This record gives sequence, structure tokens and C-alpha cells, in this order.
Amino acid sequence: MAFAQVALDIPARSLDETFLYQVPQRLENRTQVGCCVLVDFARRPCVGYVMGLAADLGDEVDPACVKPLRDVLAEPYFDEAAAALAVWTAREYVAPLSEAVRLFTPPGPSPRLIKDPAGVWCLERAGTGPVDERWAVLAPDGRDYTPPARAAKQRAILAALRIGEVRVAELGIHIANPLPSLQALERRGVVRIELRRRLRGEAARSGQCAQEAIQQSGYVAPADDIQALTEGQRDALSAIREAPPGTAVLIDGVTGSGKTEVYLQAIRRVLSEGGSALVLVPEISLTPQTVARFRSRFGSLVAILHSRLGLGERFDEWDRVRAGEARVVIGARSALFAPVQRLRLIIIDEEHESSYKQGSSPRYVTRDVALRRAELVGAVLVCGSATPSYEALWLCGSDPQRWRRVKLTERATGQPLPAVQVIDLAAEFHIGNKTMFSAALKGALLEVVQRREKAVVLLNKRGFASFLLCRDCGFVPMCDQCATSLTYHARPLGLLCHQCGKKYPLLTQCPACKSPYLKELGPGTQFAEEQLAELLPPETPIVRMDADTTRGRSGHESCLERFIAADHGVLLGTQMIAKGLDFPEVTLVGVLVADLSLKLPDFRAAERTFQLLEQVAGRAGRASKDGRVIIQTYWPEHPAIRAAAAHDRAVLIKEERIVRAELGYPPYGRLADVVVWGKELGDVVAHINAVALALREVLPVGWQLLGPSPCALAKRQGDHRWHILLKAPPRADVPGVLGPFVRALKRAKGVKLAVDIDPYDMM
Ligand code: ADP
Ligand code: ZN
Ligand code: ZN
Repeated sequence: MAFAQVALDIPARSLDETFLYQVPQRLENRTQVGCCVLVDFARRPCVGYVMGLAADLGDEVDPACVKPLRDVLAEPYFDEAAAALAVWTAREYVAPLSEAVRLFTPPGPSPRLIKDPAGVWCLERAGTGPVDERWAVLAPDGRDYTPPARAAKQRAILAALRIGEVRVAELGIHIANPLPSLQALERRGVVRIELRRRLRGEAARSGQCAQEAIQQSGYVAPADDIQALTEGQRDALSAIREAPPGTAVLIDGVTGSGKTEVYLQAIRRVLSEGGSALVLVPEISLTPQTVARFRSRFGSLVAILHSRLGLGERFDEWDRVRAGEARVVIGARSALFAPVQRLRLIIIDEEHESSYKQGSSPRYVTRDVALRRAELVGAVLVCGSATPSYEALWLCGSDPQRWRRVKLTERATGQPLPAVQVIDLAAEFHIGNKTMFSAALKGALLEVVQRREKAVVLLNKRGFASFLLCRDCGFVPMCDQCATSLTYHARPLGLLCHQCGKKYPLLTQCPACKSPYLKELGPGTQFAEEQLAELLPPETPIVRMDADTTRGRSGHESCLERFIAADHGVLLGTQMIAKGLDFPEVTLVGVLVADLSLKLPDFRAAERTFQLLEQVAGRAGRASKDGRVIIQTYWPEHPAIRAAAAHDRAVLIKEERIVRAELGYPPYGRLADVVVWGKELGDVVAHINAVALALREVLPVGWQLLGPSPCALAKRQGDHRWHILLKAPPRADVPGVLGPFVRALKRAKGVKLAVDIDPYDMM
């Protein structure tokens, strides 16, 4: 007799285990790990997923007490290794098992039970939609065609197609409604739109056939593939090649050092050995250009998993991956859980990006789950960045058995990194400049406009919290216990540390220089745009990009399209402009106030500021013309600014090491954030106090609790939010302590509780 361990599809934190069901004879052939099944649980039908199979029960369980499976609802969604990864993820991030399992289910609705009006449970099976199969291909005449200057979309489409063929649906991810422009190009004979039939049915019919076909096909790289690699690229490639399965390589390469080329060649090798590769990129970098770069090398072996594809399309891609037909999978964070067959290589590009931390349960850290997956399936993890996270760097130093670092110190094109000039804003203020643009930046912008080149201006405005800043000396009040900036509150008037809850009176005079000009800070992009328009010649194209101008599905792209289409001009925006964008014509990058993000109540504030500055500086001078960077700041001496100015992160790390080690912040400690929220402040405070009290009882020696204190976002959508912060030694088994503790907690009325292990955002 066979038995199945089933994870019930009920998202309750207390349900962290599987339940045993007997597999009836009629279902024995169809019951496999990864199958969605129908079972009885607590006197109702319930959907679940098979996590394991067993031939007998051992001595403890009486087979007569084990209920049978009712039905098998779908072909397996995942395999044993994935099941093990789901269990690990649920444990490691203190999440309900069902939520971890759901990471592995196909896009679109999975089978579920709903109550009909008569109160009867009904099964709703999963359905998939139709699939768009149109492809856009560059016609022979298209190579030399230049669309009119105003036809921004046509130019963007051609830029993508010149790299390789693209599915129309994929173009639609980043170019809003591309079809009319495509059709216009088709009428000119520049582009062909082809309907292509997908082989999905044939490949899926028998997994075995598909696998044999792939083994026999023996992937052969196209001839034009071999680019002469730089020395650094060759080192990186051989480090990946030599890395034992289950280990990681960090490619620490300056902006433009050719990391993508390293990925492409590493993938090529994996494919020729019959394996598959997974490439994770930040959502915002998943542009048609990125896709085309991979597609031009690997053709139809590429699958794209993107939340902005249609549901049918997404399911189809997922299914091509599962069938083993697509062997290069590109996607954002969640693509890590795609059913890739014979996975040999996982690549995380822009490893430092905070979007690799999942914001809702299970709140996983992509890098750590990826390494676990690599261990389970025998793959190699490659993380790449010009500004690797402090954690990743530390891993390379402290765990050299599993983490190896390769440095690429020069740009592949031989261009130097742009020169960086730091401007002291307090000095500008003293000589009477009350605008947001220093004389140096103003002059440089005017030059760029005169030469009809392009500039990018960043208003580094992350977060919402306002703080006090001395306009004379740049002083910002900090918490003496936490080394984070204090948040300014109008009601009740005062300063507050959101890390530990300590209150401070409002200052009327700068304690450092006695100046009375102590201002609450947080200028907007709109204001900056007005000032910019005043100082540049009229008619200069200015594109503003922030949360307001990029609303809606295609707001982001249409802003970028306008900037690309303009023959010169300025792109002004928040940090969203810094991410992975590659504008060859940009020769100047300006940063209006680099300090703003330095002062956020976040121990990573300095690290993140450096990353942002270094990345945005990397946008300058990528093509043949030299680039120039001007950073305006109230704090020119801050290590993050000095590090960015010198393109040398060691300047920052030297200081960060001391602060973080002393305060037990990552990587010199492990954190967990426990947040309680609810409509009634009294309930929230009472519950968080009770939780803190009980947690102190079970806290191992050397661990520390901070708070309870209000979250920096003390109220969100009508909910009051309080939190406690747990600090443990590095590599401590935090989930091992918090997991059982939280699962045993009694529910309190009117409040909710969330646990965030290794948190990134403690607002
Ligand atoms: P990164 O991802 O490290 O910022 P990219 O992979 O985008 O860098 O490469 C930057 C530029 O250098 C690209 O235009 C790429 O085509 C070019 N490039 C990459 N490798 C080489 C090489 N070995 N020789 C010349 N150019 C290269
Ligand atoms: Zn001062
Ligand atoms: Zn504090």
C-alpha cells in the first residue's frame, strides 16, 4: 500500500506539516510528488499537494486511521527537490507550508474549492487561456532603416529587433501597445510579423520523448558567438566552470565590465552539456533588449517568466520549461521556482537589488533560497553586481568553501569609469545659491545641452520619512543607541527613533554649529523640474520620471521612450532611473542631494546610497564619449560619498565594518523583525508587549530584543503598526527559535502578526 504526504492548501501558520493520506489503488499510477490532489480534512474537502510518497507508515500510525486520497487533480507541478525546497523555505522564513508550496504552482489559478450559495463545496479546476503566437522579425531591408525622430516606439522596436527576434507579447511588456507601430513598420517592409506554431503539444505529450530529443539534439552555439573576452571575463568564466555543484561565484565587476557576456558564455556551456540555466534579473531590467540579447544566442530555448505577460502566455512559458523544451529561463525573483529540468546554473544579476527580497509571505531572500536550490539539484549559483551587497561580500570572506569572488576591475570596452566631482551643498548655500543646482552642475548641464548630448539627473528620494537637516553644516540628529537618523514628527512634535522607540525633543538650534536653519527635509521632483526648466534654454527636452509620471502599465516605458527619442535633453527622476538602464548617449550624470537616503532609519542606508550612486554614475560614458558625474551633498566627507567619488567601496566598508560589528547588524548578526498591526492602537500595543515578554523567556543567551516601538510607517491603511527587532549572532538558527514560538502563539483578536527573517525593509 502507498501513502502520500500532503501539504494542505490552507495558509495557516500553524499548518506547517504535511498530513498522511492513503493512495487508493485506482490512483496509484497517477499519484506523484508535485501532484495537486483532493482530500478530506476536518470534515470538508480540501485541495493539497503531494510532497512525498511512502510505501509504509512505520509503527506509530495505524493504517486504518489514514484517510484515502479522493482524487488527483493535475499532472505534477514540481519534483522531489522542489518539494524539499518548499519545506526548507517555509521553515527558514517562518511561513505557512502552503504559501511556500504555492511558489511552485503554475501561473494562473490552481484548483481550489469554493462554497456555492447552498453551502456545498465545489471544485474549481484550473484553466489556461489562449496563447499569442505572433513574432516580430527584422526584414532584410530593416537593418538600415531609420524611423522619423518622432516615432519613438518604432525606434524602440527596431532597437530590440536588431538584436534578435522577439515575440509581440514580449515587446508589449516594455513598449505600450506596440502593434500599431509594428504594423506601420511592416507596411514599410522593415519588419515582418509572423505567426508561428508552438510545438508545445508535441513536447508535452511525453516528457520522455522531449528529454530524448534534447539529449540527441546537442545544442550547438551559433558561429558568431565567440567574442574575444577580457582577462577578467575569462577568469570569471573559469571560476564558474570550476565551481563545485552547490557552491556560488560572486562576479564583482564594475559597471560595463561585460558581466552579461560572461553569463551568456557560461549558459552556452551548460546547454552544450545538456543542462539548463535560470537567469534572475530585477523586474525593471527585464526589457525587450535584455530578452533579445539572450534570444539571439539561444533562440527558442529561451523562456521568459514575467508578471506582465498575459496569463495564458505565462502558463505556456512555464509549461515549456516544465517539458524541458525551454532551457534558458529568464525572469524576476519568482522565476527561481520555475520547474527547470536538469538545472545546472542559476544566475542572479544585480545581486544587491532589494527587490530580491520578497515583501510578502514567504519573505524569502532570493540569494539564500537560490543557493539552497543549487545545493539540492547540483547547480552552481552565480551572483553578479558592480555593487555587491555587504552580505554577499562577507560570505565570500567567511565561507570560502561555498563562496568564491571574481573581480572585474575594468570596463570591457576599455572606456574608463567616469570621473566624479563632489559638490558641498552647505558651501553653495553659504555663497547665496538657494536653488537645488550648484554652479558646477548648472554649468555642466548647459554644456551638455550645447553639445546636444544627454544628461541624467537623480533626485535621490527614497522612503517617506522626513528628518531634520542643518542647512549650514549638514548635521542630522541621530539616535544615540541605534546610529540611525531620527524621524521628524509634527504630532506630537518631536523626534523619534523607529529602531528602538526612544523619544527626543525637537531641536531649534543645530547642536553642531548653533545655526538656527534646522529644516525638515524632503524636496520633490516636480520642484526640481521647474528649477531645471528655468536654468536651461527654452525648448530643451526634459523628461521627468517619478512615481507620478510613471503611473499605469506603460508609464515607465513611455517616459524612457521619450528620452531615447529626444536628440538631446535631460532625464530627471528618482532612483528608478538608476537601475540597469543603458543609454549610450548619456555623458553627464548629476545627483541633486545624495544625502537624502543616507539619513533613512535603516542600517543599510549608507550601503544603499553608495550602491545607488555607483550604479547611477555607471550610466555615464558607456559609449565612446567620456562620462562625467557630479554629486551634490551636504556631507561630502561621508564614507558612502567618498567611496562613490573614488569608485572604491573599501572606503565605505572600512567604516561600516566597525558600526555593524559593534551593533550586531548583518553580516555580523542576524535580524528578525516581528510586526504587529491592527485597527485599535491599544490592541496592537497590548499584543506586541505580550509577544515581547514571552519571547524574552525563550531567547537564547547572547540574543537581543529591541523595542517594542512603533514602526517608521506607524500607520498604514488605517492600521497601527508596532514591531520588535531581534538580534542574533551571525548564522544563528533564528527561524529555529522564532518558528516554534510564533506557531504556538495564541491568536489575539483584531491584530495580525508577521515575522520577517533577515529583513530588508524595517519601515
Ligand atoms: P555589465 O553587465 O557588466 O554592466 P555589459 O555586459 O552590459 O556590462 O557589457 C558592457 C558593454 O561591453 C556591452 O556593450 C558589451 O557588448 C560590451 N562587451 C562585453 N564584453 C566585451 C568584450 N569582451 N570585448 C568588447 N566589448 C565587450
Ligand atoms: Zn549645523
Ligand atoms: Zn534608537
